Amino acid sequence: MKFTQQVTKTSKEVPHGEVSRNAELLIRAGFIDKTMAGVYTMLPMGLKVLTKINTIVREEMNALGAEEILMPALQPKEFWETTGRWDYMDVLYRVHSADGSHEFGLGPTHEEVVTPLMKRFILSYRDVPKAVYQIQTKFRYEPRAKSGILRGREFCMKDLYSFHLTEADMQEFYERASVAYFRVFSRVGLSALRVHASGGAFSKFSDEFQVIAKNGEDTILYCDCGFAENSEIAEVKAGDTCPKCASRQVRAEQSIEVGNIFSLNTRFSEPFKFSIQDQAGIPTHVLMGCYGIGCSRLMGTVAEVLSDEKGLIWPDAIAPYRIHLVQLGNDAGVVAAANDVYVQLQSNGVSVLFDDREDVGAGQKFADADLIGCPRRVVISAKTIQAAAVEVKHRASGETQLIPVNEFLDSVMYV
Ligand code: ATP
Ligand code: MG
Repeated sequence: MKFTQQVTKTSKEVPHGEVSRNAELLIRAGFIDKTMAGVYTMLPMGLKVLTKINTIVREEMNALGAEEILMPALQPKEFWETTGRWDYMDVLYRVHSADGSHEFGLGPTHEEVVTPLMKRFILSYRDVPKAVYQIQTKFRYEPRAKSGILRGREFCMKDLYSFHLTEADMQEFYERASVAYFRVFSRVGLSALRVHASGGAFSKFSDEFQVIAKNGEDTILYCDCGFAENSEIAEVKAGDTCPKCASRQVRAEQSIEVGNIFSLNTRFSEPFKFSIQDQAGIPTHVLMGCYGIGCSRLMGTVAEVLSDEKGLIWPDAIAPYRIHLVQLGNDAGVVAAANDVYVQLQSNGVSVLFDDREDVGAGQKFADADLIGCPRRVVISAKTIQAAAVEVKHRASGETQLIPVNEFLDSVMYV
């Protein structure tokens, strides 16, 4: 993509009232636009990042043996009445048809749709275990929408639901899902902790995946031995002796919840009368698990955690472009050399943003490259042409090298 062909522009302005670091950086760099509080448009580069995150999530969920579906956001009120959640779920948007004759829920989560859906297909012990997932837009009326895309009123979530006959089968899947979650987080460049947390309305406990971040809304207490609890349920405080290893001291950090897995038990199969016959022919309520990842929140978390004072720092796996090519100076030789590298990268499938602007100086181009945060900035100038090289600067380490053009092309094409 040539810079001059892009729809978006970088800017120095941040919308009034936007206080979060992720939204500030993502808006200034042109990845998202704020439509209203808690509601954002994914602009071309933002959508590229989100799509790459979703691809990683999809690969890991498929590897787990789950099948992808897409359920509706618009859901019948009756389903919500069946589970009793219509009246008390405070984040649920309740919408009316224009003539006022019908009411619907805008899905904040999908147990109410997936349970009657799977009841049609799971008929006996032979049909379990099964798991389905979706990557879909969720709606929640969040009272405090001040955290950018970390807490949207409309946001992208992956939600997976599993169906089992026995507790042991449910637990086995739950642990495999946890492994898949760690793979997702490390592939997007984050290191997450599995944290014991409250089970909300469903069960006593759940497991959250938390990324330590100084602007995170949650507080976790943890120890290097693996002990980790959300402060909502923790009975220890920072400095206390770890209750697990009994040797080190527990530490406290702010963190962001990027995923959450729950055992739902029979909370939804009972109201929907979803039972199947076991091997002995005895009807048993199906046991369910649910597993969420905040895909757009993950993007916001990377923006919070992997950035510096100059801007964003994307890992290769989810960067909007792997290369940010900068043409420095407008004389014919530089323009031709830059265009040549651009064409070679494009035709070999290496994603590249080419700053071909002729009316912008080096300082502005470099500042924009730092703000946008592609992993490698590649400069072509009269000086690099003389050396038959390109200057490559790694965004994360700041390390700069002069590399012969062919060597550079080889190094990025075969990874
Ligand atoms: P929180 O405690 O942060 O409100 P939650 O526990 O209500 O989240 P879940 O129902 O567990 O959220 O949803 C699964 C995942 O979806 C969460 O772990 C989080 O990563 C993401 N998520 C939840 N709410 C939002 C939101 N408003 N905006 C963006 N992502 C969200
Ligand atoms: Mg949660």
